[in-house]
Amino acid sequence: MEFNSHTDRVVGAAVGLVNLLTPGYAHGREYEPPSGDALAPAVHSVLSAAGGRMEPSWEEAASFCFVAAELRAVFAAVSAGDVDDAAALVNAMLARTGARPVLERHDGEPWHLHFHSADNALVSGWAAGCATGLAVVLGGELYDRLGVCTAPRCNRVYVDISRNGTRRYCSTSCQNRVKTAAFRARLSLQICTVLRVAVAGSNLLAAALGVMSLFEKMTDQGRQVIGLAQQEARDLNHSTLGTEHLLLGLLAEGHGTAAEALTSLGVSLEVTRDAVAALIGGGKQPPPEGNIPLTSQSRKVLELAVREALQLGHMHIGTGHLLLGITRLGDGAAVRILVAHGTDMRLVRERVIQQLQDAPDAEGRYQPGPEAGGDGYEAGMPSLPRVLAAIEARLAAIEQHLGITHSDPHPGT
Ligand SMILES: [Zn+2]
Repeated sequence: MEFNSHTDRVVGAAVGLVNLLTPGYAHGREYEPPSGDALAPAVHSVLSAAGGRMEPSWEEAASFCFVAAELRAVFAAVSAGDVDDAAALVNAMLARTGARPVLERHDGEPWHLHFHSADNALVSGWAAGCATGLAVVLGGELYDRLGVCTAPRCNRVYVDISRNGTRRYCSTSCQNRVKTAAFRARLSLQICTVLRVAVAGSNLLAAALGVMSLFEKMTDQGRQVIGLAQQEARDLNHSTLGTEHLLLGLLAEGHGTAAEALTSLGVSLEVTRDAVAALIGGGKQPPPEGNIPLTSQSRKVLELAVREALQLGHMHIGTGHLLLGITRLGDGAAVRILVAHGTDMRLVRERVIQQLQDAPDAEGRYQPGPEAGGDGYEAGMPSLPRVLAAIEARLAAIEQHLGITHSDPHPGT
């Protein structure tokens, strides 16, 4: 959208002068206009961007501060919906400067309209020009296109030249700040919800283990079972990890308390695999890369495994506790398969508990968690610190993508 080229230039100069010379806030920070030796060159750069050729003296540059303050009042009035006030302010500037239109021809351009002041001095000339530019805007259809940034800690001004007139910020930097703040607010709400659900859903776990991943409390073999269960699910093209896969994982691990108990009761990996394939069948497509998510029943098994461990006075979760969790769950594919195979679930529990009491350290004590956890850990659920670190990394990437950094005063304006 263009008014005409000279109007566009003087309106641009008005915006530039206000944003350069009025204190307040800019892009989230307190803003002090330039002073001393920096003042005149800064004003000159705004004027020359609008076609001005004369370099202001320091005194003239300082006088522009008053012009900028008057101009800001016009933007503020329009932004507050008070167009009458804005019109009165502009009329006062036009009268004071004796603004007059002059047709000019220079530098090989055709005749075009300039705005001058009565005395043709530098400062009043620009004041007259800027006031006339704003008068053209206020007197037209797009009178409400002057605005003050609505982002927090910013009061820089702008002219909305967008087609639909929906601009609300002085710059993309402010727009992105607001977007990111909203995103962060939503995200922290989600994190709070997740934590609340986690704590409420397994307060036993939270109370006993702290806000810490279950997997950090697992024996190496316990973690290995989760990885093997993932592989069993993958081999069947299953996209979720159910109790039947946990059972296969326990058997595939081969040496742990659970595998020994099951083997002693005549349950073999091969027969159980066939039973799972028969009961559930294989999927048509391989699951996506990465961790296969646990079903709600599998998550329940893990929670019950914690309960079993604590009841036995164990501060770690091994394969035996996982198998006890499966039996405690009472339903689910794993139990159905074991029962169909003629396995007595009470006997399974007795056998496992006996082994755990005879040799509580058979799978080694609790090994400190994932930070020292090694590769087998990847098969498991990520710990809370890891999730938070991942979220933080994603936020940083998003901020980088949006061009927001915490040291850059106003990028992308
Ligand atoms: Zn802004």
